[in-house]
Amino acid sequence: MKCSGCGAEMRFDPATQMVVCGHCGTVKDPFFAEEQCRIVEGSQGESYLEAEVYQCPQCGAKLLSTDETAVTFCSYCGSSVVLEGRLEQEQKPDYIIPFKKTREEVEKLYKHKVSRSLFAPSYMKSDDVVSKFRGIYMPYWVYALTNTSGLRAKGKTEERHGDYVYTNNYLVSASYDAKYSGLSFDASSAFSDSLSEAIAPFDVHARVPFKTAYMAGFYADTRDVKPYVYIDNASEIVSRDIARKAALNPAFRKHGATETEIEKSVTLRTEPTGGYFPVWFLAVQTRDKKRVSYAVVNGQTGRVAADMPIDFGKYLLGSLILAVPIFLLLALAIPMTPAILTFTVIAFALFSLLLANTLLNQVYTREMQYDDEGLQFVLDRSSDKKRYQMFENMKRIKAPEKIRTTWKVLAGMVIMFLVWLANTKVLVSVTASDLWYYGAAIVSILLNIWTFFDIVKAYNKLTTRKPAQLGARGGDERA
Ligand SMILES: [Zn+2]
Ligand SMILES: [Zn+2]
Repeated sequence: MKCSGCGAEMRFDPATQMVVCGHCGTVKDPFFAEEQCRIVEGSQGESYLEAEVYQCPQCGAKLLSTDETAVTFCSYCGSSVVLEGRLEQEQKPDYIIPFKKTREEVEKLYKHKVSRSLFAPSYMKSDDVVSKFRGIYMPYWVYALTNTSGLRAKGKTEERHGDYVYTNNYLVSASYDAKYSGLSFDASSAFSDSLSEAIAPFDVHARVPFKTAYMAGFYADTRDVKPYVYIDNASEIVSRDIARKAALNPAFRKHGATETEIEKSVTLRTEPTGGYFPVWFLAVQTRDKKRVSYAVVNGQTGRVAADMPIDFGKYLLGSLILAVPIFLLLALAIPMTPAILTFTVIAFALFSLLLANTLLNQVYTREMQYDDEGLQFVLDRSSDKKRYQMFENMKRIKAPEKIRTTWKVLAGMVIMFLVWLANTKVLVSVTASDLWYYGAAIVSILLNIWTFFDIVKAYNKLTTRKPAQLGARGGDERA
């Protein structure tokens, strides 16, 4: 936005909620400022912003800006490339929640979060990385739901009189008025649902009618998820809440109408509106530049969510510092009889096994982006075949990879168990000396440590993402 006084670029200032010129000090109220780009009316009464849309040549992500600006890095894959700009029409949101948190506040919040995480790699805090926080308005669908009829539910009560049980059936109906507003879901497939959930909620009541001046100095992501995608989610949340509250009503409760029965009778009218919500966004590339971890900050409340990979060196040092004293204490406190040793080691191995399994499952879910309905929608629409192929591939590698991680722990358990078995003379009549126990315990513990390294590797996969998957967007347009 150009300053009317001196022609310099003006910015929306979250601290004062005004558009400010850093050069001559001119201040403007964004609500009364002139629109910064052409607004085009569509055939169905909807409006579009005609603004510069920048697309990353690496990953295909898109950013929209109403300023004349050069975009020199991508906020989604983290690569330093110049994004190519092109004039495009983007659906104009009805509302916007303006940024409240300034860049300085956000950098401080993020650095605090990283320093509290013991094993986070140090490059995540470097000034160069942190300076790449970018204020992006995320498109959201905001749903308002109203129930359109009363509630009717079948109920059943039972009475016992001597040897007889009487069953009473009821049909309970009640008038019920409910209005829910402000249920919101992100409408960009590039913004993962797990991240948007982690920085939720936004206070939707603080929204104001959309004006382009709020975007001065900021960007917006493009809206590529249709409003009907989340209607089922919104309806389910609201129906369940209505049923839960209605079930407490004596009319339903006394006649044995359950929540499930009441929920079936809820009918809702849903009205979606488009909103822009403020998110400070940062993509950090891993050392090999193959994956990224994201840090996002709610631009209204300051809530931080960040992927925190584990640095192997820091992890190893930390575990040694922690493990050595614990081991010494245990050895001094409990007399290590062979039996206690055997079962301690086996219990430890079982724990690693469970942890490895849980983490690996999470990694696969994330890799498949199964936790992102917005992205699922785009993938479903543009490349059913590709997605099916991905799923098949994943199934094929899932089992062998799990075995690769867990066989070591299993082997350790088996060795430990065999030595114990040998000593109890159940199978063989050889008496193992204590030395055998200690030997087996050491081998088993080493195998455990090896597994923990693999778990850290899996965890790092969980806390970093494959940026290439964003290439899925726009699949339709290129075809
Ligand atoms: Zn000026
Ligand atoms: Zn990119």
